Amino acid sequence: MQETDALTEAERLMTVCNSCRYCEGLCAVFPAMELRRSFEKGDLNYLANLCHNCGACYTDCQFSPPHEFKVNVPRTLAKVRAQSFKSYAWPKAFRPLFERNGLVIAMLSALGFAGFIAGFALAHDPEILFQGGSFYRLMPHNIMATLFMAVSLYALLALVMGFINFWRDTGASDIRSGAGISIWQAVKDAASLRYLDGGGVGCYNEDEYPTDRRRLFHHLTFYGFMLCFASTISGTVLHYLFDQPAPYSYFELPKLLGIPGGIGLTVGAAGLLWLKFRRDEVMMDMKSLGMDVAFIASLGLTGLSGLLLMLLRETPAMGILLSLHLGVVFALFLSMPYGKFVHGLYRFGALVIYAAERKLDRPVTHGHE
Ligand code: SF4
Ligand code: SF4
Repeated sequence: MQETDALTEAERLMTVCNSCRYCEGLCAVFPAMELRRSFEKGDLNYLANLCHNCGACYTDCQFSPPHEFKVNVPRTLAKVRAQSFKSYAWPKAFRPLFERNGLVIAMLSALGFAGFIAGFALAHDPEILFQGGSFYRLMPHNIMATLFMAVSLYALLALVMGFINFWRDTGASDIRSGAGISIWQAVKDAASLRYLDGGGVGCYNEDEYPTDRRRLFHHLTFYGFMLCFASTISGTVLHYLFDQPAPYSYFELPKLLGIPGGIGLTVGAAGLLWLKFRRDEVMMDMKSLGMDVAFIASLGLTGLSGLLLMLLRETPAMGILLSLHLGVVFALFLSMPYGKFVHGLYRFGALVIYAAERKLDRPVTHGHE
């Protein structure tokens, strides 16, 4: 007997699908399932994190409701996936954070931190808050860098610990030979969102007509985030190694990377939110909606506040915008290990396992070595 109702239902569905096999060409989940005769918790968590929730197997299934078999793979795997995020979180005491209303927590944290910075400036010299120009009059660079370095290191530690929990749970221990090839294959599959294409036709959203919109907006968001991250790193390198503090011109690396990154992040996140609220609820785990929206909104607000800050830095709005931007980024980093951000990490791990299984032509997860 599985630990939760979602795992029990996932085990039932995988047994039905393993007899049917109609969907084997749609994504990686079904070929991985076909390598197994039984499904333990680690197997189901692996398959759930391998699923990209494209919805194709729900639309194509002849046994989906109202059929008495009630087969709904996307929603069931979404529930198992959300539970797995919570069970892998580190430290254990913070696991309940996954059940809280993610949107409210993220926005309150962002506003709280922004209010702290603005209040600090108001208490010392209110004029600084309403003057354009250098960011560092509002918050000295060293304090800013130390604060964000500390939050980033904590988030990194918590994410690594979570990934170790995922890896142990799946029991994927037997992929050392050829691990490098599996990782490279997983990088290519993740970078192209190969399994978000519904078997080649696109992702199902609000009706039975698939489109590639979700993949497009996901790409804009992901690559926008990576460009913004690279922009921040390049600014840090210029500041500390080349003694070139901000502001930077439009022809220097921080802006060359940051402007397209900010646009991608803003447009991509807005598109993902638009699609999420139009999506047919039948394929979604509605309990995770708050967590999903909080993550996407935090990414979008990071991009938007960064772009506004760049455009309005010489105006009196600079102080408030900088406080808001730092607040949103701080909340985003702090909530990374306890929200939707982790889906990328565990999905990448699942893709590595899948690449290894394809190479070895046998399962490598728990109980199947
Ligand atoms: S989702 Fe439906 S059609 Fe697809 S393999 Fe499972 S039972 Fe068959
Ligand atoms: S929702 Fe898409 S990715 Fe998930 S199992 Fe079904 S076909 Fe595969």
